[in-house]
Amino acid sequence: MAEKPKLGMYWASSCGGCEISLVNLDEKILDIAANFDFVFCPCLLDTKKADIEAMPDGGLALTFFNGAIRTAENEEMARLLRAKSQTLAAFGACACEGSIPGLANLSGREDLFKAVYLDNPSTQNQMKTIPQAFTGVPEGGLRIPEFCERVKTLKDVVAVDYFLPGCPPEPSRVWSVVEAIISGKPLGPKGGVIGAGDCAVCDECPRTKKDKRLKRFFRTWEIVPDTESCLLEQGLVCMGIATRSGCGGLCPRVNMPCTGCYGPPAGVSDQGAKMVGALGSILDVEPLRGLSEEDLEREIEGRRAFLPDPAGTFYKYSLPGSILKGARK
Ligand code: SF4
Repeated sequence: MAEKPKLGMYWASSCGGCEISLVNLDEKILDIAANFDFVFCPCLLDTKKADIEAMPDGGLALTFFNGAIRTAENEEMARLLRAKSQTLAAFGACACEGSIPGLANLSGREDLFKAVYLDNPSTQNQMKTIPQAFTGVPEGGLRIPEFCERVKTLKDVVAVDYFLPGCPPEPSRVWSVVEAIISGKPLGPKGGVIGAGDCAVCDECPRTKKDKRLKRFFRTWEIVPDTESCLLEQGLVCMGIATRSGCGGLCPRVNMPCTGCYGPPAGVSDQGAKMVGALGSILDVEPLRGLSEEDLEREIEGRRAFLPDPAGTFYKYSLPGSILKGARK
């Protein structure tokens, strides 16, 4: 019997949701097993790193790499899997754009360690111990992977063939990609986005859109939005306008604003900047006309107060992949 092409799936710095989206393919997972030899997936299989190292370069037909690059181990595995994979796909928002782990880029490594190991009220650390990459003890040396200064995306470390966005990617979109590979359909030019659309979530959202003129924003717990009209027009910060389509507008369909997990739409390099620009264009500035400089500043500050976490809202899934990449100090 002919050998099946080998498939790998690796998680770096991530929550495990991407593996769940694979499991959520339900019975289609059997079609994957029928067409591929699933040889590497740390949360499902006991294949060791040494087994992958022993493979010839290009021995894996396809690897889905999920998770951001947070540690030296993540980086080492990215390089190893790049060498061993004919096709390497960044799978999910963390690998594509850095996602939630990437919000740690609002601080440096030293500040993070201080917050987690020294100043955390629920941690007892009288010796003020902070993890070190190497610790010498009488019995020998202990090494753990180095914690990098900044979170990086997969493409910051290795060449990536395709990007499959989403937090996690919708199973139906994952299947459309796998099915295309099985049936030998072309996936499009290398470096492109697969399993998603090119336009914005607003284009696949069924809500009624009218003229947007906002006086203030609301947080989700402050109002119960109506189920028909655009959430942004009702004052909720819905990121649909700055987010790539592909999910089918799942969140707005259940009365929740889009939080941006499919990353920037085609042609947009910075999702947060796109959203800030969009919000700037729909804020109702009519009442501000004629105000003195001082009153204007007070008014702007007052409106800004309705958005308590701008970085975490506009760059929730994309900070390392953005133009900013992190906080500038
Ligand atoms: Fe739908 Fe949100 Fe876009 Fe409004 S902003 S159309 S609710 S996705």
